[in-house]
Amino acid sequence: MAEEPVKLRPFGSCPVCGRPAVEAVRPFCSAQCRRVDLGLWLTEGYAIQAGGGLGEAPPSPLSDDDR
Ligand SMILES: [Zn+2]
Repeated sequence: MAEEPVKLRPFGSCPVCGRPAVEAVRPFCSAQCRRVDLGLWLTEGYAIQAGGGLGEAPPSPLSDDDR
């Protein structure tokens, strides 16, 4: 009698729009939001999860010489 309704557990909320996430595209609510998130990743290096530098990182290229 300790059956946990795993399938009824919420997947959280979409980090993009805040709507309830869908299992197929979690943690997002839709494929569109996932694309948005990925797009931000590719264009803006947003929220570096595997980094630690929370916040805004200067868009510095590979070289660091300022003339
Ligand atoms: Zn969403």
